[in-house]
Formats: sequence, structure tokens, C-alpha cells
Amino acid sequence: MGVPFAEVIGDPVAFSKSPAIHGHWLAQMGIEGHYRATRVTAPELPSYLAERCADPDWRGCNVTMPLKQAVAEHLDDVNPIARRIGAVNTIVRYDEMLCGLNTDWIGVNLALMQSLEGKDTVVIGAGGAARAVLEELRQAKPQKVTIMNRSQDKAAALLDRFGLEGEVRPLGAAPPADLLVNASPLGMAGHPELEVDISALRPGAIVFDLVYHPLETALLRTARAAGLRTLDGLDMLVCQASMAFTHFFGAPPEPMWTPELRELLAR
Ligand code: NAP
Repeated sequence: MGVPFAEVIGDPVAFSKSPAIHGHWLAQMGIEGHYRATRVTAPELPSYLAERCADPDWRGCNVTMPLKQAVAEHLDDVNPIARRIGAVNTIVRYDEMLCGLNTDWIGVNLALMQSLEGKDTVVIGAGGAARAVLEELRQAKPQKVTIMNRSQDKAAALLDRFGLEGEVRPLGAAPPADLLVNASPLGMAGHPELEVDISALRPGAIVFDLVYHPLETALLRTARAAGLRTLDGLDMLVCQASMAFTHFFGAPPEPMWTPELRELLAR
């Protein structure tokens, strides 16, 4: 047996912050192991998985765009939450079986650390990240979920899929709410700004932007200026990575957050 390793696969994958996060934890905990980024396209998935299955040192992988949906059909099992979300972002090997998980949802859960029962919530976006947020809301039992999205039929289908009470709105003015989550790429470097009016959010509301490049988005700046609580995309990114790390290397990263890690990822 050689040195255990895990990786993130996708196309493109060079931008991924996962190697920095896992590499930091491996060094911090003195674990002998590697974590790297490997470019894999959708047609390459079967040969990639067959090759890795034959490698006893491979502990599993994270999966990023555009493979999160395509990968499921190549696995032996997909856990029920990943199936409901409709996306796999982590593959682990149990015995000789390849199993698909979704730790993005756990990332949302751990980053929020809030009871949302009976609260009013707003989700911007109806893509893969929004599905992970909606799984958290399905479990948290809020009063109402408003999805604001460009394609309203897509958003309505998600309310149904997750069995949530609420409404669909176009992007614009957010309704009164206790939590607003941006799960769209709007505000991310290279994408248009997010145009949303958050003045109706309730005092003490949380504004959570899943975007992590840049870390300080216009949405978070506006929320902070209005005295609201804010969470940036790094919290979710690091929390979901900690679950994957535990699966790959057999122990949770301890400590998960350090000032050095935040500084490393803010670059
Ligand atoms: P996605 O599946 O491509 O979904 C994109 C969503 O945004 C769709 O609902 C789309 O609307 C909307 N959208 C995209 N461009 C738009 C535009 N120009 N105008 C209006 N709406 C637009 O993306 P995703 O995977 O969900 O990722 C969304 C964001 O979450 C990204 O910034 C990603 O980096 C971030 N993310 C962060 C983490 C973390 O750990 N922090 C994890 C996962 C994702 P339509 O439905 O109308 O197309």
C-alpha cells in the first residue's frame, strides 16, 4: 500500500479550493495523505472510476461541476438525501462499493446552526446549490419558503420536490423574512451583480451568500450596513469539506477552522 489519497474531480477543476482545505488539514493533523484536483469530463467518468476502484490507495473524491448529476448512474449506491437533492458531491468506497453522498446539504446545516422552525425564508436560485439549501429547509420546517429565480417554473418544481409551503417570485424585492440565502452565482466574480432589495428583511435576519469568490459580496456589504447577520460562502465550503475529509481520512479535522485556513482561502 502506498500513501492514501483523495481528490476533487470536475471540468474545469483548477479553480477549486478543496486541495487547499484538505491539504491544510492533512498537514495540521500530521496525517500521511494527499488531496489533489483532477480534471475529468463526463465521458471519462466510467474509465476514471474503474481505474480508481482498482487503486487501493484511493479513498474517494469530491465531485464538482459539471459532474454532480451525471455521476450517479455510475455508482453502486446513492444515499437517500443525495437522491432527493439530485446531486452527488462526494464519492466514498465502502468495501468494494462506490457510494454517492451530498455533503453540500450538511455544509448548509453546519454553517447555519440555527433553528428555522416557523421562520420565513427566502432562497435565490433554483440550481444545484439551491437544492442543498432546500433539503436543509425541508428538514428545518420553516413557515414559508420563497424562491426568487429567473425561471419561475423551475423554482415551483423545487417547492414541490421538497414538499415546501411557499411561493415563487422573480428576482427583485425580497419579502419580509428571517433568513435570505443567495444560492445563485450572481455576485460571483465573472457573473452579473445580484440585484435584490433586502430592505423588508426582519431585524436580526441572517443573510447567507453561498458565493465565496469574492468573499465580501455586495449583498453581504448591504446586509451588514443594515445591521443584519451575515454568513459568507466559506463557512459552507469548509463545513462540507470537513464531512468529506472524515470519510476519506478516517478522522474529523480538528480544529476545523483556524485563522490560517481562513487567510489561505481568502486569497
Ligand atoms: P447552477 O446549478 O448553475 O444554478 C444557477 C442558478 O442561478 C439558477 O437558478 C439560474 O437561474 C440562476 N442564474 C444563473 N445565472 C443567472 C443570471 N445571469 N441571471 C439570473 N439568474 C441566474 O449553480 P449552482 O451549482 O447552484 O451554484 C450556485 C452558486 O453557489 C455558485 O456561486 C457556487 O459557487 C455556489 N456554491 C457554493 C458552495 C459553497 O460551499 N459555498 C457550494 C456549492 C455552490 P435559471 O434557473 O433561470 O437558469
